[in-house]
Amino acid sequence: MSQIVSEIKCPNCGAQLNLSPGELVATCRYCGYTSVVGANAPFQLQHSLIVNNLNNARITQDLQDWMRSGFMKPGDLAKRSKVTMLELRYLPFWLVHLTATSTYEGMLERISPPTPRKGTIQNQYDWLVLGRKAADFPTRDYRVPAEGKIPFDFTKIEPQAKFLNSELDSDEAVIRAKNEVEENQRFLLKQEVDQVTRFDTSFSIEKPTYLHAPLWFLQYEYKGKSYNAIIDGSSGSMIRADIPQTDFKLI
Ligand SMILES: [Zn+2]
Repeated sequence: MSQIVSEIKCPNCGAQLNLSPGELVATCRYCGYTSVVGANAPFQLQHSLIVNNLNNARITQDLQDWMRSGFMKPGDLAKRSKVTMLELRYLPFWLVHLTATSTYEGMLERISPPTPRKGTIQNQYDWLVLGRKAADFPTRDYRVPAEGKIPFDFTKIEPQAKFLNSELDSDEAVIRAKNEVEENQRFLLKQEVDQVTRFDTSFSIEKPTYLHAPLWFLQYEYKGKSYNAIIDGSSGSMIRADIPQTDFKLI
């Protein structure tokens, strides 16, 4: 299976595309051409890149700073922990710009007497969908920075970085975005009514944009246990990090 996949050539320059099984969107390492694999007529996708601004030394420093800050961490965390894995990965995302309009009917029961309510909730979203099916990444905690976005350029990708292609095509990304946005609209509805009797959402969707963003994945060890952290390579902000449980000692 993987052999068949690896025989696919770049529609632009003819170079062999290195694809793993399941990857649907390919970016050529030689010319940067991005296309959907298996599409009847290959077409070029608009593709952006968020530039990485950090290096290993800076990431290690950022992690140390994070360990020293805040009250919820062991006091010796920075001193006694060791970074065991540090990897820059370019993750594929689809950014889906859409407007969701939900109409609803229901009952407001938190007031007395309970009152029927109906209305509309309309919101615009730039909804981010990760192009990987089995990745553990907190997409909702991550915001694509507006600055630092350039047309995709493979020469900006560090040779040691891991580059991942998307396993979702644009249509699948839209379906995922619609489902997640609808869930979010339903969550917002809880402010309006307590019992829902009708809820319909319609969407107006623009063509999704494809982009790669630099994320630093770290593992550190503290007192024999391993913990994970993810840092945004553009802004340097901590996206998620495990904090070792501490025994609180009151002074
Ligand atoms: Zn090419």
